[in-house]
Amino acid sequence: MKNVITIDGPSGSGKGTISKMVAKKLGYSYLDTGALYRAVAWKARKLGISSDNDEALKKITENIRLEFNGEKIFADGIDISSSIRTAEIGELSSQVSSRPAVRAGLFSLQREICLRGKVVIEGRDAGTAIIPETENKFYLDASVEERARRRYEELKLNDPGLTIDNTIDDIKKRDRRDSTRETSPLVRTDDMTYIDSTEMTREEVVNAIINNLK
Ligand code: C5P
Repeated sequence: MKNVITIDGPSGSGKGTISKMVAKKLGYSYLDTGALYRAVAWKARKLGISSDNDEALKKITENIRLEFNGEKIFADGIDISSSIRTAEIGELSSQVSSRPAVRAGLFSLQREICLRGKVVIEGRDAGTAIIPETENKFYLDASVEERARRRYEELKLNDPGLTIDNTIDDIKKRDRRDSTRETSPLVRTDDMTYIDSTEMTREEVVNAIINNLK
């Protein structure tokens, strides 16, 4: 299979921006899997459910109605596109995403979208768990400092209390959680093309991906 492009990597590595650019350039659709975990976190927070309440999280994951419209995401009919882009929901989504029931609940939705073909899917386990049969797998990385800088630039308007130092701490904590969890941890495998974007422009990264497509 070649018409699914997976882009995995840690927080702040630029997966979102790059995936959207690659999808646009190729006329593919785009799936931001982090937004699904953020949506579950958003609903858990709204209902006052803690991130270790597996039963309640399972119910949320099974019942939440998720819809995409262009770059917008709706949960139960509510546009949550900007409310899920905060440091608080980022942290909460990292916590709920380590719960096996949440991962299992979101698996089929992601896989079905991939099987429709011509999609760029970005996340942590797209190439290892969601659609391992694709031949076009990428791992996008950057230094912790650069990733924190990017996250900070993205979040500072929504989160006036944020500082670069707590963004670095937050990124390190999420890296640790994402790569050490038992179910579908973030891993880089030999069949992924590795790109370190620390000193690259967006256009260079997009070209590196397109030039490496099979
Ligand atoms: O990529 P983004 O920061 O939006 O993802 C939010 C959180 O969801 C991440 O910190 C990560 O823990 C989790 N996630 C995941 N698996 C994915 C995508 C995101 O565990 N495929």
